[in-house]
Amino acid sequence: MRRLGKRIGCRWEWCEECQDLGVLVPQIRSDNTTIVTPSARGMLERTLKAAIHSLYMETLKHKLDQGKAFELTSKCDASNHFLAWGGFTRFANWRFIHRARINCVSVNGAVCHGNREKRCRKYGYSNETLPHVLCSCKLHSRAWQLRHNTIQNRLVKAIAPRLGEVTVNCAIPGTDNQLRPDMVVTDKAQKKLILVDVMVFFENRTLAFCEA
Ligand SMILES: [Zn+2]
Repeated sequence: MRRLGKRIGCRWEWCEECQDLGVLVPQIRSDNTTIVTPSARGMLERTLKAAIHSLYMETLKHKLDQGKAFELTSKCDASNHFLAWGGFTRFANWRFIHRARINCVSVNGAVCHGNREKRCRKYGYSNETLPHVLCSCKLHSRAWQLRHNTIQNRLVKAIAPRLGEVTVNCAIPGTDNQLRPDMVVTDKAQKKLILVDVMVFFENRTLAFCEA
């Protein structure tokens, strides 16, 4: 109990009121000063398990990268469609996504312990972090373009049969504007033009999203 108490912040003590009556009744006092007098073995077990459970929960919540992705996706219902059946996902994607989500991909900058070299192994940038590799390492700029185009093509494939004609990387039809949005959807039935620009950024909290 002494060892466990250091971790979960509980300690045993004798009930003072009962001691005055000449009876020894043990109690558990936890950090937030709730006092439990375990009357049965089951109750003692439950109290200790609950304390350990909340300890693990707090440790997890305070991890450095915890909640980065969810902070954004939770802002909008449309961002929370989960792939329940593994469609469009290969095992290689699966392994990468879940490592990346908790920043466990073995890039040099992700190692917190020791005094290891953090330099980018491709381009010499001082800190090889996940955002650097995915979004700002110049050597991979061709891959950024392919990633952007793949997402764009996927969207075209999904939008075209539902809404009408989609033009990709062209000036807006019917205007002399020189800007070329990624996609322009012409919805003839509702007489609407929908402009879509695809942007892939690293989900580094809300501020990064708004800037993007
Ligand atoms: Zn680099």
